Amino acid sequence: MPLDLMTLSLVSQPVSMEEGVKILERDHYRCQYCGLDGLGSFDNALAMSVDFVVPRARKGKKDPQNLVACCRACNMIKGRKVYSNFDDAKAYVLHAREELRKTWDERVKAAAEKAAAPARSPASAARAARA
Ligand SMILES: [Zn+2]
Repeated sequence: MPLDLMTLSLVSQPVSMEEGVKILERDHYRCQYCGLDGLGSFDNALAMSVDFVVPRARKGKKDPQNLVACCRACNMIKGRKVYSNFDDAKAYVLHAREELRKTWDERVKAAAEKAAAPARSPASAARAARA
């Protein structure tokens, strides 16, 4: 659950501010999925939230054993799917992040190649086709 630093409240309040901070402190403000250090920078701090390992939508309990520090990206990737345990959830999130990274790498490379290619006018393309 995202911690709103502007109001210092937990959005939609499934866990209280105090409960959320306890979880973040217990986990040293580090995402338990990807390892993002929530104390590393202000931007990282903004990305931190508390995740229900078994989602509330799946009757996950508001119990410290079911709560972990989590960055918003991992929280979004994990979604509301139910995993057999935390390790399975972590493996899924890390694999999904790797697949997203590959897609991102390909798109960035393609965009860079497109930007580096000389612009072709329709006339020069027609000349090239006749040559
Ligand atoms: Zn993360």
